[in-house]
Amino acid sequence: MIIVRTDQDDFTYDIHSLVKAFYPAEDVIVLPPGKEAPVRQRQTESAAEVSRTMDVVIPQGLPDRKQTKDALKQGLYQRLVAETGRELPWGSLTGIRPVRIPMMMLAEGRTHAEISDHMRQTYFCSEKKARLAIEIAERERSILQEADYTAGYSLYVGIPFCPTTCLYCSFASYPVKKCHDQIAPYLSALFRELTETAALFAGRKLYTVYLGGGTPTALEPVELEQVISKIKSTFDLSSCREFTVEAGRPDSITEEKLAVLRAYGVDRISVNPQTFSQKTLDLIGRNHTVAQTEEAYALARRMGFSNINMDLILGLPGENTEDVSHTMERIRALSPDDVTVHSLAIKRASRLKIEMDSYRQYQMENTSEQMEIAESVCREIGRTPYYLYRQKNMAGNFENVGYAAPGKAGIYNILMMEEVGDIAACGAGTVSKRVFPDGREEGTLTSSSEVAQSRDGLPRAKLEGRIERCDTVKDLDQYISRIGEMIERKRELFGTEKNL
Ligand code: SF4
Repeated sequence: MIIVRTDQDDFTYDIHSLVKAFYPAEDVIVLPPGKEAPVRQRQTESAAEVSRTMDVVIPQGLPDRKQTKDALKQGLYQRLVAETGRELPWGSLTGIRPVRIPMMMLAEGRTHAEISDHMRQTYFCSEKKARLAIEIAERERSILQEADYTAGYSLYVGIPFCPTTCLYCSFASYPVKKCHDQIAPYLSALFRELTETAALFAGRKLYTVYLGGGTPTALEPVELEQVISKIKSTFDLSSCREFTVEAGRPDSITEEKLAVLRAYGVDRISVNPQTFSQKTLDLIGRNHTVAQTEEAYALARRMGFSNINMDLILGLPGENTEDVSHTMERIRALSPDDVTVHSLAIKRASRLKIEMDSYRQYQMENTSEQMEIAESVCREIGRTPYYLYRQKNMAGNFENVGYAAPGKAGIYNILMMEEVGDIAACGAGTVSKRVFPDGREEGTLTSSSEVAQSRDGLPRAKLEGRIERCDTVKDLDQYISRIGEMIERKRELFGTEKNL
């Protein structure tokens, strides 16, 4: 455990994220003046499990909060580099949206060289990552300028059922067989929420729909059809540019379900291998074979799907560079339209975190070499990077990157990540976002660690809209019994006029 004492009750989140980035395996506690470690940690502290303590002084006399934070993180980053002898690919940037820096600077008319200098000098970003962020920002801008997404909105619908629960999962996901009796009441509550949401957005253009979860194709064909036909009959899809369904788990995909998706005009699906190593799939509880992934993909192609995404994870337990090379060679052979390369993130609510002691024997490391293998193969098959985000506790401190063939980029992914348009999210464990046109001020966002992350490292720019969010409960029974309250939360968020 590392205990960090600071002289102010401010920037504790930033300090925590940066120290944790250097010491991912350690518990890090940041204690502002007058605060003591919680009892459990005090016991650990007295049991001499504290590997070290640090004092961090917040810089004084700088003109604003942003400059104070930059100076604090610069000093702390250099100190941690000196201590560990290690630099981080994204330098002192610990937020989830590093691409927003070049996005905003491009909008201000800055050149690539100026942006790269800023990212390297202010945040100690590597040249390679600065270049990647700029390339993605340019691509996002060209995709987003085709329509006025700020006036329209996107719809996310969550189906929180999966065949089994993956080891690393922290999403709303319940084993479909065990929860079978809850599916009908869940769908009935969801349909109420969809009806009310459509009424709130009447007259506005719906640009993208994303049916995710969970795994929507874990539902029976008839249930899947009910969900999609409900969306189609409730919302005006005449301006919809993209309808994605996460058919993520290959063991949930059947010809009958894909036929439903085709019949209703779903134009983008995901078939997610995560890895093409069977020993890893068995270890992470995916409960399907590599052959099933390839068969599901081939079936989808035969049935005419022309935009198929495949999600991969680097840094899975026990995987090494050879496993990653093997996975990427299968990707080369299959040539999906999109490839999303994730770095394993160990989430607090995942089984992997909870049962970590059982998995300590496995290496869980992503390396620059593995990231480069994945990137090279994607580029060699003509898939270029179009969106990027980072998460807490990622293997190797890297990033997640979506690569796509020309014209196949997932528009919803960009809108969601860059927070440039409203997202109406329905279903258990979902988060709706409303982007207001007035400038975002410090402290105006709703609380949560996600908000703190989104503020992190970003220059305050006029074009950055203020964002408010509302969520729904993750628990199935709670969602069903409190659906009226979930709808009311959405009314409060979206029910007032927005001056566009
Ligand atoms: S398929 Fe996705 S949502 Fe379902 S358990 Fe696995 S990681 Fe979680």
